[in-house]
Amino acid sequence: MTQQAEFREGDLVGVLTTQPLDRLLDYRAPEGGCAIGAFVEVPLGPRKVLGVVWGPGTGGYDIAKVRQAIRVLDTAPMQDEMRSFLARAADYTLTPLTAMLRLATRAPGLGDPPSMRKVYRLGDAVPDRLTDARARVLAVLRDYHGLSFTLGELAEMAGVTPSVVKGLVAQGAIREEDSPRDLPFPPLDHRRPGKPLTSDQAAAAEALRAALRTGGYGTTLLKGVTGSGKTEVYLEAVAECVAQGRQALVLLPEIALTAGFLTRVEARFGAKAAEWHSGVTLTERRRIWRMLGEGGAELVVGARSALFLPFRDLGLIVVDEEHDTSYKQEDGVLYNARDMAVLRAAIAGAQVVLASATPALETWANAEAGKYARLDLTARFGDAVLPRMGAIDMRAEALTAGRWISPTLIGAVGARLAAGEQALLFLNRRGYAPVTICRACGHQLGCHHCDARMVEHRFLKRLVCHQCGETEPVPTTCPACGVEGKLSAVGPGVERLAEEAAEVFPGARVAVLSSDLFGSARALKAQIEAIAAGEADIIVGTQLVAKGHNFPLLTLVGVIDADLGLQGSDLRAAERTFQLMRQVAGRAGRADRPGEALLQTHQPEHPVIRAILGGDEEAFWRAEAEERRQAGVPPYGRMAGIILSGTDVAQVFDLGNALARQAGPLARIGAQVFGPAPAAIARIRGRHRVRLLVKADKGAALQDAIARWIAPHRLKGDLRLVVDIDPQSFY
Ligand code: ADP
Ligand code: ZN
Repeated sequence: MTQQAEFREGDLVGVLTTQPLDRLLDYRAPEGGCAIGAFVEVPLGPRKVLGVVWGPGTGGYDIAKVRQAIRVLDTAPMQDEMRSFLARAADYTLTPLTAMLRLATRAPGLGDPPSMRKVYRLGDAVPDRLTDARARVLAVLRDYHGLSFTLGELAEMAGVTPSVVKGLVAQGAIREEDSPRDLPFPPLDHRRPGKPLTSDQAAAAEALRAALRTGGYGTTLLKGVTGSGKTEVYLEAVAECVAQGRQALVLLPEIALTAGFLTRVEARFGAKAAEWHSGVTLTERRRIWRMLGEGGAELVVGARSALFLPFRDLGLIVVDEEHDTSYKQEDGVLYNARDMAVLRAAIAGAQVVLASATPALETWANAEAGKYARLDLTARFGDAVLPRMGAIDMRAEALTAGRWISPTLIGAVGARLAAGEQALLFLNRRGYAPVTICRACGHQLGCHHCDARMVEHRFLKRLVCHQCGETEPVPTTCPACGVEGKLSAVGPGVERLAEEAAEVFPGARVAVLSSDLFGSARALKAQIEAIAAGEADIIVGTQLVAKGHNFPLLTLVGVIDADLGLQGSDLRAAERTFQLMRQVAGRAGRADRPGEALLQTHQPEHPVIRAILGGDEEAFWRAEAEERRQAGVPPYGRMAGIILSGTDVAQVFDLGNALARQAGPLARIGAQVFGPAPAAIARIRGRHRVRLLVKADKGAALQDAIARWIAPHRLKGDLRLVVDIDPQSFY
């Protein structure tokens, strides 16, 4: 690709590399010059590293020693929009720009010359024998007039084996050619009609289309009950975006959800979207990365990291299930993909659609304040109705020890099974039992590296630490007192619940859905499809099942412990419980059979439980918002977590105390600092953890103050300091 040269060969340019250095490096422009934003290969010590030309050189040191960039890479230069986005995201999250660039260059082989591969297109000859299979292959090539495909693509699209294609090549009916490896994605046909929309859906779709037609930035909360057709509606926005020749991005919270969604995209637009997440092959990732920059891909469906892809002209970002906590990246660069989507769109002049049945309070409040537009879908599509919700008062239920399914719930499940329907038992706890205790000495099995209990996973036949992932065989003797055969499981996890369900309902087929039980996204997807097809009677699941799966036969949701999430002191405990319970309940009765959700609880009169049952969502959000406003916490105040860690606990606390004492920069913006205090999980992987919490007013220049506050403190030894702006978890 030719690039318009802004710097001539030998000019001094400032290059941002992906190396952990906190500044630009000066180089001389390579042979042929380079444009601003060009991806370049530069020498660094004995190595060659990837970089982006960020601007003119800074000079300031020995000009004679400045080395020359090796070459400009054969890929579209980084757009101004992307450079501003990375810079502002770095400022917002207090992350070095180099780390942001690493997020934006997560595609392998960017420096490789474009390699070749075989592609197939229509030839001139007529095959001697036109079998059905052969006719299908030729029909595909005629439909996509002029396009060529790889052997795999063509065979899949025509539903034939590759040998059929090869046979046609031998006959001259198809031509085999060499072509660059990274091919554009087949275009989406935005003119194909979508499903006929209901009047509510049509009005919402038109509002989104109109917003796109303005050509500028805007964010819309698309709030619709589960099954109301939010997806159908935002696909219309995608169609409008594509019609304008701009690119669209749909973010999904769970990789397992992408398959079903991709099928819907293909049905709507007659072609596949580009799929971006950790399970995608390296070659495909490279193709997507390059094609977005060149305009050869119109729609990406992906995980949060897709936000850092080099779109050439981004027009729309949809964040589906926008309240989902997995949008917050909790290690490496701590960012919230929902918030960063809004930032990127504001810079790119794009529209954002935040879709959810249970929006985050932040989003709800932004809509209240008029910063976001809001569209509501209040009814489920078709004959589906929202599930009836009820509580089971556990204080009135007779349960034997080691049992968690109440007689009332057993009765309800039994009735569903008798009617040939499915029931879901929901428990947000992975593994067999959360605690293993020695009945002889009372010792609880804990992780050697963390301040956490080891969780028994009977399926894996191991104990697992949910903090660091350490596993070990389940011991037969107690490691503390040495007594044999006294270790016993306390409390339920989904595996244990599944065991109970199988005992209570001996004839029923029980399936467990928990993220740790599947080696791959594919295995999980297969299990979800099997359940949807009716190959299970009882589903036992963790929060994985709450995320937008469609199980048409599922009519009853039984929540084993609705109080579980309310116990924490987390400021979002009520909000999270409300969201999770409403989402899980939303799995019931999605098709023509009405559903029911029953919540086992010890405190049916708790305001959150009553709000969940009553279904007056606006009232819940208003009450929750008022409490947060009173307390001056997000979204009506700002917060940042500071997490210090190290192997020497005294050193960690010394640093924490020093920070707390020298908090002048924070005081100057009126911010308060709390701590240092041992973190809720005081040790992970052998490192002691201490937290400070900074609270400030909504309008305060928090990042700037924090940067000035921590700058004077040097990190000795293996000490680490992590800043978490807008923390979502406080462990
Ligand atoms: P949501 O995203 O709000 O949970 P979906 O878009 O997944 O809802 O819609 C729920 C189900 O209803 C899906 O199977 C979808 O195909 C179907 N559906 C929604 N709207 C329509 C429509 N206008 N015509 C036909 N089917 C629809
Ligand atoms: Zn551990």
